[in-house]
Amino acid sequence: MSGIYIHIPFCKSKCPYCDFYSYRCKDEEMRAYVDALIDEINTLSRASEFVKEPFKADTLYLGGGTPSVLSGEDLYRIITTAKDKFNISDNCEITVECNPNSDIEAILPYLLNAGVNRISLGLQSAVDKERKALGRLSDKKRITQVIELLKANGINNISLDVMLGIPYQTKESLAETLSFVIESDVPHISAYMLKIEEGTHFYKCFDKYDFPDDEKVIELYNQCADTLEKAGLIHYEISNFAKEGYESRHNSKYWESESYLGIGPGAHSYIDGKRFYFESDTQGFINGAKAVFDDFGGNAEEYIMLKLRLKKGLLLSELEKLYDEKASLKIKEKAPFLKEQGLIDFDCERICLTRKGYLLSNSVICEFI
Ligand code: SF4
Repeated sequence: MSGIYIHIPFCKSKCPYCDFYSYRCKDEEMRAYVDALIDEINTLSRASEFVKEPFKADTLYLGGGTPSVLSGEDLYRIITTAKDKFNISDNCEITVECNPNSDIEAILPYLLNAGVNRISLGLQSAVDKERKALGRLSDKKRITQVIELLKANGINNISLDVMLGIPYQTKESLAETLSFVIESDVPHISAYMLKIEEGTHFYKCFDKYDFPDDEKVIELYNQCADTLEKAGLIHYEISNFAKEGYESRHNSKYWESESYLGIGPGAHSYIDGKRFYFESDTQGFINGAKAVFDDFGGNAEEYIMLKLRLKKGLLLSELEKLYDEKASLKIKEKAPFLKEQGLIDFDCERICLTRKGYLLSNSVICEFI
């Protein structure tokens, strides 16, 4: 089964760390964009250069940007059109990313009617000073209010984003955020380390902020993983934690090299071994720009890289079955040394990164590919 991702490139304001394709726009542009999305969903649901009929999916994910800046009517229209036009399974995981600062009270009835069963909320930090530095407008009280509202309406599958390495963050302030997360009793947490990307406000004004250094960030990552695991969440992917059965089915498709269709400017797809994408140009998309071929994907290197992000790791027999015996030669050669260094667990059949390996994942993966 495949997944469908729909990109909403709009936000109320630009966060100082964000390099995603998103921006603030006028209502008319949003309306034109939603119409263009509906047209593109219709087009892609028919057999085309990249997508064969019927396109079967069991996950649908609205991300951004900030999908919750759209009206309830527009969100309902997008989701129900996708459900209607593609072959969507009955138990489809339907996620919408929401900003707690949006008018969730107004859009929630539409989301429920459209069958949304999972909400991803951008918390980042429960400490107001840190949230302010990140450009986040809502406070802790509002986030609690939104979580309670979702639960009262039957949406228990909630994910919170937490950010590590943000300005002013200390061991104590992260403990406050993690206590908040645990008390909120949500089943899924994504904990990302802040990367200062070129072109962002943080990049330009780096010296104005008090960022924790690399060593401190490693301590924060370990603290986060220890605390969440102790609270019963499974560290199932480098940056993701979930109660059993609440792993993100949609994001797992990326890590499991399954196919997915991305719709909207900047959205990428991987279907039948081909990668294609829409240019990051909303106006172009509104004017009917089509997806363009990127490259052939799904080679052994990519497979190894993605599988090693997961706690369950990589099975050498599967790798050899999908590719050939040569694909595992380098792994077998390097594994004993990396195991000795405490970076991987390896039992001649399955290989997975340790916590220390997660922190050095790029270097470890490079050894294998
Ligand atoms: S809300 Fe999300 S997508 Fe929008 S600017 Fe902030 S981080 Fe970027």
